[in-house]
Amino acid sequence: MEQIRLYTIAYKGLKNGSYDFDFQVDNALFEAYDRVEIKSGSCQAHVDLKRSETMLELSVAISGEVICECDRCLEDCPIAVDYSGELVVKFSDEIDDYDGEVMWMSPSEDMLDLTQYIYESIVLSLPYRRVHEEGGCNPEMLAAFTEMSEEEFERLEAEAEEDEVVALDDHNRELLEQLKKQMEKSTK
Ligand SMILES: [Zn+2]
Repeated sequence: MEQIRLYTIAYKGLKNGSYDFDFQVDNALFEAYDRVEIKSGSCQAHVDLKRSETMLELSVAISGEVICECDRCLEDCPIAVDYSGELVVKFSDEIDDYDGEVMWMSPSEDMLDLTQYIYESIVLSLPYRRVHEEGGCNPEMLAAFTEMSEEEFERLEAEAEEDEVVALDDHNRELLEQLKKQMEKSTK
């Protein structure tokens, strides 16, 4: 991944103390993740880093805007990003999985790659429902959907009617069977 260096902190050379870093998040990041949730965007990530002997403590703030697909009209929809979170990176030879708070790194490493962290933080900060503000949806698309759902309703109604026909057939068959039994009895 080309952008991997873009969101990397080379902490090995830093003395214990506080530092801050700024990253510009652009389309390259979203393209690297195949734009599953986010089509494009532009954000700023600010990282306050406290380096000590055994760990790094990071405060990360991300703000900006991304473009998602509107859940209502499927057109591009700008969504504001406003994320802040804490991340602790501990140095240890025993590496555990990242649990959402603590990331583990071998003491032999010298770079912290925040690419995945930044991408996932932006995705997590998005609202569950991504829609245009009231009146912002494409009216043609909305009209097309309404028409489609009316057609769907008619199709379901037609199916229900067919079900009734089937039920009637079943009823007829029962009557026929009863009639047949009666005829069999009467011939004996
Ligand atoms: Zn919309």
